[in-house]
Amino acid sequence: MTYIAGLVVREQGVPATVEELRLPEVGPGQVRVRIRAAGVCHSDLSMINGTLRPPHPLVLGHEAAGEVVEVGAHVTRAAVGDHVVLNWQPPCRNCWFCANGQPWLCSTSSGVAALENGMTLDGEPVHVCLGLGAFAEQVVAPENAVIVVPKELDWEMAALLGCSVLTGSGAVRNTAQVRPGESVLVIGLGGVGLSVVAAARAAGAGQVIAVDVTEAKKGLAEAAGATDFVVSSDALSKDVRVRTEGRGADHAIECVGRASTIRAAWRATRRGGQVTVVGMGAADDMVQLGALDIFSSARTLRASVYGQADPDIEVPALARDVLEGRLSLDHLITDRIELADVPAAFDRMARGEGARSVVHL
Ligand SMILES: [Zn+2]
Ligand SMILES: [Zn+2]
Repeated sequence: MTYIAGLVVREQGVPATVEELRLPEVGPGQVRVRIRAAGVCHSDLSMINGTLRPPHPLVLGHEAAGEVVEVGAHVTRAAVGDHVVLNWQPPCRNCWFCANGQPWLCSTSSGVAALENGMTLDGEPVHVCLGLGAFAEQVVAPENAVIVVPKELDWEMAALLGCSVLTGSGAVRNTAQVRPGESVLVIGLGGVGLSVVAAARAAGAGQVIAVDVTEAKKGLAEAAGATDFVVSSDALSKDVRVRTEGRGADHAIECVGRASTIRAAWRATRRGGQVTVVGMGAADDMVQLGALDIFSSARTLRASVYGQADPDIEVPALARDVLEGRLSLDHLITDRIELADVPAAFDRMARGEGARSVVHL
């Protein structure tokens, strides 16, 4: 039996605390990973602020990297000692979506907020966030939830590849398919939004207009490659039009997950432009669009789930981009913390401060 420390939420509305937990035995097709770095993602906050309603007790955390310390029977994807990025939506490779080239919509792993895995010290089953529960010293996961990356890659860079960077770069490259010279509006500058900004510049966007609720994000936005920074207001679509020869942006990429910001993205996009929703919102937050507006604006509205990517292909490719200097993630990390500091990182996130906080374990 392996005992580990993990960050546990006992019930909705009660702050998370570090607890000792019992890890399950490693079964066939599973691996045990010692977590080395884990990013604090907005989806973790959504698990505790009422946006999502996962079961409890719950171990948070899903954007992580670590070292394989044990493999179960029949495991072929990883060996002890491998450095791996965790994948919170591992494709099964058998369902209709996987067979039709859309592994990000895999029907066996989509939409599961938390799975039962492990126990508290008094024997109560614990649930792990997105099948991982990576705010913990170790996790036991199916082998298809790990992606081997080169050992030269920093742990914290590797962790970010597993959620924010894959999501952000995939939204630009796979979903929006931004072309050189196009203008891109990015709303919401957390870890994902800043990754979108960087990916849009890397894709050759002529103009990247970054938007957040406070001026405090301006420096981070510019470091990521934004050409313009705008503090969000009711005049956003007018501001964007002024900066885009009166038309509106070719693309708007919404990284908040709220009806109001999806509407703002829609209104700031040019006729025939594309709105890409990356933010994960609440089920009852309704987006209202006029039927005539949908027709006459000729805009496209689409969602980008987990970067619309095959993580088994794109995570190793992003790792090479980082190692060979084509992709810089340094500007994404603003706080390096311990497990017990995660609740304070959620507070900073809720106040809109900083970019990524990364837990070092
Ligand atoms: Zn995430
Ligand atoms: Zn599948």
